[in-house]
Amino acid sequence: MNIESGTVVSFHYTLRDASGEELESSRGGEPSVYLHGHNNLMPALEAAFVGREAGDIFTVELGAGEAYGQRDPLKTQRVPIKHLAFRGRLLPGAVVQLNTSEGMRPVTVIKAGRHSADIDTNHPLAGQALAFDIEIAELRAATAEELAHGHVHGPGGHQH
Ligand code: ZN
Repeated sequence: MNIESGTVVSFHYTLRDASGEELESSRGGEPSVYLHGHNNLMPALEAAFVGREAGDIFTVELGAGEAYGQRDPLKTQRVPIKHLAFRGRLLPGAVVQLNTSEGMRPVTVIKAGRHSADIDTNHPLAGQALAFDIEIAELRAATAEELAHGHVHGPGGHQH
């Protein structure tokens, strides 16, 4: 079977930055799972999965614009510290979670005072070219319910 719209894809990945440094990896843990053709991956990454089979190994290089977008220098704001989730001290450069109406999202601390912090709300990987080393682990056809919901159910997917 080959990946097409409606395929449930399990895959391992290692994410590297432009200098080759590893940023994150699924290896050694559970593979990532997604439903192909339903906008669950970055479009340029998903396009590279089309037609692949289980066992395929390949690298996808994305420019910043295809990954987390360009860094916008105007995307900074001052927020109350109580809106941030973090451990230890708030130091410049630290990536912490900002509690927003749409859930938690990663932001970078510029400087912190006693009650408020200046943060950069660009995604921490904005402005960076990225490379994904991919290994396709397993493929299966989506169920009718998964296709209707647009996402995977069960292990690695939505539990509801
Ligand atoms: Zn669902």
